[in-house]
Amino acid sequence: MPARGVLFDIKRFAVHDGPGVRTTLFLKGCPLRCRWCHNPEGMAAGPELAYYSQKCRHCGECVTVCPQGAHRWVDDGHVYEREQCHACGQCAAACLGRALKGFGREVSVEEARQIVLEDRDFYRDGGGVTVSGGEPLLQPGFCAALFAVLKRDRVGCAVDTSGAVAWESFEAVLPYTDVFLYDVKHVDDAPHRCWVGASCERALGNLRTLSTREAPIEVRVPLIPGFNLDEPSLQAIGRFLSGLRNIVGVRLLPYHPSSSKYEAIGKADPMAGAELPSAEQVTAATDIMRGFGLRVT
Ligand code: SF4
Ligand code: SF4
Repeated sequence: MPARGVLFDIKRFAVHDGPGVRTTLFLKGCPLRCRWCHNPEGMAAGPELAYYSQKCRHCGECVTVCPQGAHRWVDDGHVYEREQCHACGQCAAACLGRALKGFGREVSVEEARQIVLEDRDFYRDGGGVTVSGGEPLLQPGFCAALFAVLKRDRVGCAVDTSGAVAWESFEAVLPYTDVFLYDVKHVDDAPHRCWVGASCERALGNLRTLSTREAPIEVRVPLIPGFNLDEPSLQAIGRFLSGLRNIVGVRLLPYHPSSSKYEAIGKADPMAGAELPSAEQVTAATDIMRGFGLRVT
């Protein structure tokens, strides 16, 4: 049976997801639980419904169409009972206020190919498709099959990964991948387990192996206050990266909040109230990476 993928979002004309202008496909499901995650709607493997209460026009369409009775009216207004919801998406299709949005749609390789080819006129200067997430390499068969057909269409292919997957998933996409965007969050296992919910060993081990292959790697380092923004943590990351081959650049990604996304899917933001990195801290992090001979992009 041909591979199928589960997408939760599509970003067109992306300019920070690899070279050139890109179409980014966000694949659902992630093995990690980073406290600062900017795409919490991509964590769970299954479909989910988000409800943006500020956009609700109180038209009542969702109450009418929902087969589960998950929407209802009370004196204070509209109530959405998440526990009753089976994420069928019918209410999101009926909602004129765009207050409801389904995350998680199964697509065939050919459907995904057509989504990407809509933007092919913009893929100059090495642009193309980026698979992101969630963790795209939890769906390696789909990614590999999609890349294989897009390569025949002369579309560039990039993988944005946390690296916390079986090495075999990398092997599946390596023949077609022009560049990897690879997260390195910390190189110390204790804080990594505490803030990410898993050991960093698998991701770092896969990065070591990947760096012995030919594909260029752009490393992404999130700058998270209280986690890795201190000088020893950044020095350790810089030292680790400086010992690897094929690292073409390091992109530092200062923390920014995503509280409204958490609220929409009925979750508490683990970083609520956290301070943002200051300009001085970002500059200091940049200097540390450059001090190890790394190119900060
Ligand atoms: S259909 Fe949308 S706008 Fe209308 S009541 Fe339901 S959530 Fe609100
Ligand atoms: S997604 Fe389906 S089950 Fe869930 S609230 Fe909407 S209509 Fe009801």
